[in-house]
Amino acid sequence: MNKLDTALVTAAISKAGFEPADDVKEADVVLINTCSVREHAEQRVLSHLGHLKHIKENKPELIVGIIGCMAQRLGKKLLAHETVDIVCGPAQIPQIVRLVNEALNGSKAAIAVTEKIREKTNAEQNRALDDFESVFDTDKTIPAQAYVRVMHGCDNFCTYCIVPYVRGPEISRPPKVIIDQIEKLAQKGVKQVTLLGQRVNAYKYTAGEKTYCLADLLYLASKVNVIERIRFVTSYPSAEFFDEILKAMADLPKVCNYLHMPAQSGSDKILAAMNRHYTAGQYLKLLATAGEVVPDIALSGDFMVGFPGETEDDFQQTLELVKKAQYKNCFVFKYSPRPGTSAEKRMQNDVPKEVKKRRNIELLAAQEKISDELSRQFLRKEVKVLVEGLSKKPHLKSPRDGSNPQLIGRTARDYIVVFNGPESLAGEFAKVKITKTTALTLFGELL
Ligand code: SAM
Ligand code: SF4
Repeated sequence: MNKLDTALVTAAISKAGFEPADDVKEADVVLINTCSVREHAEQRVLSHLGHLKHIKENKPELIVGIIGCMAQRLGKKLLAHETVDIVCGPAQIPQIVRLVNEALNGSKAAIAVTEKIREKTNAEQNRALDDFESVFDTDKTIPAQAYVRVMHGCDNFCTYCIVPYVRGPEISRPPKVIIDQIEKLAQKGVKQVTLLGQRVNAYKYTAGEKTYCLADLLYLASKVNVIERIRFVTSYPSAEFFDEILKAMADLPKVCNYLHMPAQSGSDKILAAMNRHYTAGQYLKLLATAGEVVPDIALSGDFMVGFPGETEDDFQQTLELVKKAQYKNCFVFKYSPRPGTSAEKRMQNDVPKEVKKRRNIELLAAQEKISDELSRQFLRKEVKVLVEGLSKKPHLKSPRDGSNPQLIGRTARDYIVVFNGPESLAGEFAKVKITKTTALTLFGELL
């Protein structure tokens, strides 16, 4: 979601005549897109602001803007920070160009946050956001790929989560708007779209007699020429529409056989305290069904360790679930109390820091073994990747001997593949023969 918002803001302000600066010291305006999901992410923004304060001492005309979830959460409090000139919440990003111009013209209060964030937006506000999303849509950082938001916000209120309070209520965008946007992206050369929603599988839109679900979107998007891959994240573990979505995955070659479905915990006691509406048994049953309908499906998950009240026994149950699930990879987070959420207000953050850290390491180690084994099955096999671009490692980006640089691509099942090839392959599909594997990466030779 944040990557998409960054792309939208970058495109809007570029169209208004601004150009990206190579170095923060050369910039007239610095915009920081922020995340509030964990405290650590917010602390990083505050330390970044400390750095900008020094730059601003020598360059007082520098404009600094905070956009995104932290802007929505802290609003005027952020504007009180001496370095900050602009504050703009995620639902207000269509106003970013106006805010930047106001700040450049000397306004001291360039702020746009949603006053009543949990109030449903009206049709006109939805249209304004839809128009903004449809005009500015491609992410130039990864060629031939784009994110498409199918839903805003979330209504699930997991007790630890800030998202419903900063991104507002769950609203599904009209299917026509989504498909028109995908068609436009295809005309610009986009080959892979990723449909985004906090509970993307809960997508539901009624138009006339028909109620559309995510599976309908997958069928419609599959008909768009040029688009060759369709992904969707994040799936919430719920039986609603699940069979339809799996059937679409099995039926439609363009839909990638990859499911990111966070479990968060393997303990029913903790899942209930998190307000997740499922048990570990129900979750595993969903995964088993997914494996039956889409036999080569790749799975990934999110977990949280150290949620209030999590005992060693609860944690062992999480380890058990991870072993049974056989994820290709999973993301593990240490619980971080978020102001205003019900866990922060009503529960004690009672798992010590060191215990959270140890559980985090243990869970990742268990997953690494599984990932390693799953990766090995690709040895000596051919895979098709969509090339994302150059490797991040500077010495491999442009080898001194003039040979081909290292490239990164992804398979339909979301495996990262590293190989040498011409840079011109970025945004193209390529066939690679896998020669070496690690837990998280496949290495190979371009065919
Ligand atoms: N909507 C998705 C879902 O329900 O699975 C997840 C969205 S959340 C922004 C991404 C991940 O951050 C979650 O899956 C969860 O593991 C983690 N997360 C959310 N709130 C957190 C908190 N307070 N502390 C630590 N991790 C958190
Ligand atoms: Fe947060 Fe839960 Fe909504 Fe995901 S489903 S965004 S974790 S409240």
